[in-house]
Amino acid sequence: MPRYQGHCHCEGVAYRLTTPEIETAMMCNCSICRRKNLVLSEPWFTPAELSFSEGFDSLSIYRWQDCDVNHLFCPTCGVHIGVSSIDSPTTVRLNLGCIDALDLTKLSIRHFNGRELL
Ligand SMILES: [Zn+2]
Repeated sequence: MPRYQGHCHCEGVAYRLTTPEIETAMMCNCSICRRKNLVLSEPWFTPAELSFSEGFDSLSIYRWQDCDVNHLFCPTCGVHIGVSSIDSPTTVRLNLGCIDALDLTKLSIRHFNGRELL
């Protein structure tokens, strides 16, 4: 099973991900995702698949309105790492731009109309 490595720009946050080959992603047009041009993983990864080697405990968290997710970002370089559920903070949907081995232009992108829903 492919293993991916990802990190923020300053490498203060780094992880390894074990998952079937990533071929799809999601982009959302809500007020925060569109400002980040965020390309998110479709799956939410559990600690069995996603292992942080650096920085998980130091991640900064941004929450807005009554959304039930944590937006996780590196406190040093500001790069968005992904989102986690408030109820399950170690289960993360990743910003795929942090994985160097992925060519985001080759992924099949599903567009989520968060602008209407969130
Ligand atoms: Zn960083």
